[in-house]
Amino acid sequence: MNNQILLNHLRCIPDWPIKGVIFRDVSTLFKNQQCLKLMSDELVNIYKDKGITQIVGIESRGFVMSSAVAYHLNAGVVLCRKPGKLPCETIQESYAKEYGMDTIEIHKDAITEDDVILLHDDLLATGGTMKAACKLVKKFHPKKIYCNFIIELNTEFPNARDSFDPDIEITSLLKF
Ligand code: IMP
Repeated sequence: MNNQILLNHLRCIPDWPIKGVIFRDVSTLFKNQQCLKLMSDELVNIYKDKGITQIVGIESRGFVMSSAVAYHLNAGVVLCRKPGKLPCETIQESYAKEYGMDTIEIHKDAITEDDVILLHDDLLATGGTMKAACKLVKKFHPKKIYCNFIIELNTEFPNARDSFDPDIEITSLLKF
């Protein structure tokens, strides 16, 4: 995969949302036709033989590639959202963030024990969000869980990947 094209189009915003943070803005990858196609093709290629039945997209930047890839894998899309956004009964998971707690939830009837799940988010930093999502999805007892990110900040957070349960296979399209 030509990662350089993605790197060339990724917008990095210093001091946003707070001073000292460099925000990696994947919206510039989504709006570029070549990047969108590259990312979709690469994800389809990685997961085409894994028997994925549902892609769980993490709100909100995780939704974009989830639907593009699910279409090609003949899978469905499950929304993993912040509290109060999903209209039916949900299962929740809370997790610690840098400042305080956060919660994510999925509709109670969204995943079955027959599902093979691909969890997708735009970026892996500390891993807190995705580990909570994995914990949440495990409550549904699916056959298998895979995780994917567009970007893995493995220089800034070198231990994040190793902090996941070893039965969860993780991939990312860009590592820096
Ligand atoms: P973590 O929980 O520390 O791994 O942070 C990852 C979560 O925060 C993901 O849901 C990302 O969408 C979001 N996030 C953190 N930093 C960035 C960034 O630089 N760009 C885009 N999303 C970010």
